[in-house]
Amino acid sequence: MEKSGEDFDYVITGAGSAGATLASRLTEDPDISVCLIEAGPKDNRASIHTPAMIVDAIYSDDLNWHYETTPQAELNNRQIYWPRGKTLGGSSSINAMVYIRGGQVDYEAWEKLGAEGFGWNDVLPYFRKSENQQRIADQFHGHGGPLTVSDLGYLNPLSKAFVEAGVQSGLPRNDDFNGQSRLGVGPYQVTQRKGQRCSAAKAYLSDAVKKRDNLTIHVDTLVSRILMDGTRARGVVVRTGGQEREIMARREVLVTGGAINSPQILMLSGIGPADHLRDMGISVAVDRPGVGENLQDHLDTAIAFTGKTNRSYAYSLQALPKQMAEAVRYLFTKKGMLTSNAAETGGFASTKGEDEPDIQFHFVPAIVAARGEPKSRVHGITLHSYVLYPDSRGTIRLNSTNPEDHPLIDPRYLTAGHDMETQIAGAKMALDILEQSAFDDERKALHNPQSRPQNDDEWQAFVREKAETLFHPIGTCKMGAKTDDMAVVDNQGRVYGAQGLRVIDAAIMPRLVGGNTNAPTIMIAEKIADVLRAG
Ligand SMILES: Cc1cc2nc3c(=O)[nH]c(=O)nc-3n(C[C@H](O)[C@H](O)[C@H](O)COP(=O)(O)OP(=O)(O)OC[C@H]3O[C@@H](n4cnc5c(N)ncnc54)[C@H](O)[C@@H]3O)c2cc1C
Repeated sequence: MEKSGEDFDYVITGAGSAGATLASRLTEDPDISVCLIEAGPKDNRASIHTPAMIVDAIYSDDLNWHYETTPQAELNNRQIYWPRGKTLGGSSSINAMVYIRGGQVDYEAWEKLGAEGFGWNDVLPYFRKSENQQRIADQFHGHGGPLTVSDLGYLNPLSKAFVEAGVQSGLPRNDDFNGQSRLGVGPYQVTQRKGQRCSAAKAYLSDAVKKRDNLTIHVDTLVSRILMDGTRARGVVVRTGGQEREIMARREVLVTGGAINSPQILMLSGIGPADHLRDMGISVAVDRPGVGENLQDHLDTAIAFTGKTNRSYAYSLQALPKQMAEAVRYLFTKKGMLTSNAAETGGFASTKGEDEPDIQFHFVPAIVAARGEPKSRVHGITLHSYVLYPDSRGTIRLNSTNPEDHPLIDPRYLTAGHDMETQIAGAKMALDILEQSAFDDERKALHNPQSRPQNDDEWQAFVREKAETLFHPIGTCKMGAKTDDMAVVDNQGRVYGAQGLRVIDAAIMPRLVGGNTNAPTIMIAEKIADVLRAG
């Protein structure tokens, strides 16, 4: 194999939410050299930067890993489509831009699970450090950080009606889900800057950062494995255009491939459950049974009504003139409808009437169409609901030793605890909100499900037939105490049993936060970057 002669202090394997953050923060120190390696291309497509083109980004051929889960027993053996970003910015370049940190209780829960130093008071400074908040000035928010967080420049009238409907259903109005409490309904804040997506790449890999002498970025380059010398990581093997070469790390390899790819890279390198590695014919460098375990995701149920008006977004003839006018407006001003992230408003509720929520809503002023036909021609409204803290746990396993093959993704949705019960309770709340009078002049006919479920068996059948991912996989290299055999990394991301090797991304979250996962991933990277800079 070719030795490229390239060596750096740190090699970072993936330029997503975590990898972009780390590369930027580490290279603020001119004495630290970093090589940031990304499997996907540069992030120069309009579909990344124009918020309303989110559907194009989610289904794009080359910005996306296009994963599928294994058949899910509790979802009528359906395979669920899992898009993940494959470009600079990773999934933050194709996500819905909703800025949510989760609740204070989530980080207290992490600490109890062994992630010492990740309690709310420990993580808040890093959320603030990353943030450039455009509206709110209080102790929860930061200003001047790289990640711009703003109100949406455009709210569809139906998104405003959702907030009214939520209040009519008994939920409080909430103008800041990242403040004291998440409960209630309101507009989401988004990771957008001047009407464009503010991905982790936009935030952390500005032109000035990219020009730093101590930062090298390789795109279209796949990390196929970590070079292990016994239990010590020395560098990585990468593939470009069918050729393999080695890139060496003088200090450490930082694995930032996300919740699916990070455990895959570790296992391909001989780090993981020994039996599985031997079954795959891989020699074991470090036996860590937790690698690829503890997979958690938010499962989503969507309730939709067709609309009486053409106020909602749809690929319809009636909407075309307005859309064309808005496209021109966006081109010249970066304002208007094309700044919409689709999920403009939403909220949090407790299905049990408690103070902490167990359900999150995303309202979309459009019919979110069936899979395979993502762009609906029919006008209407959709309310997504998902269980914030599922009990179900799944796995990532290798399917082959070829790094270009997708691993086996088995989230084991709805296989544990009260997940189905809470999923149904959330869907019922969603239907109740859409049936409030605020939507009387819009609601035409029930579209999804096509007829109202009459009892819990029918609700269950609906969930099994229609539930999809809300795109938040985490936990497959979980952070925990040394005494926890299933923990993969310590509270600085160091892989137990290995040297010179860390995992720093959504894979190390021990448990799902009650909310979306981009901001928490960036917080993790900010926090561990500080540790690395201090060391
Ligand atoms: C469609 C969608 C919508 C979402 N909506 C929201 C939202 O509105 N709000 C929110 O907070 N969160 C949202 N999320 C989730 C959020 O974006 C992710 O949790 C977060 O980006 C994860 O960050 P990460 O660094 O762990 O992984 P990623 O950002 O996925 O980064 C991993 C990077 O590593 C690269 N990589 C992987 N393997 C290799 C390899 N072998 N070699 C080289 N490079 C590699 C990948 O290409 C990718 O760029 C959404 C996600 C998706 C997919």
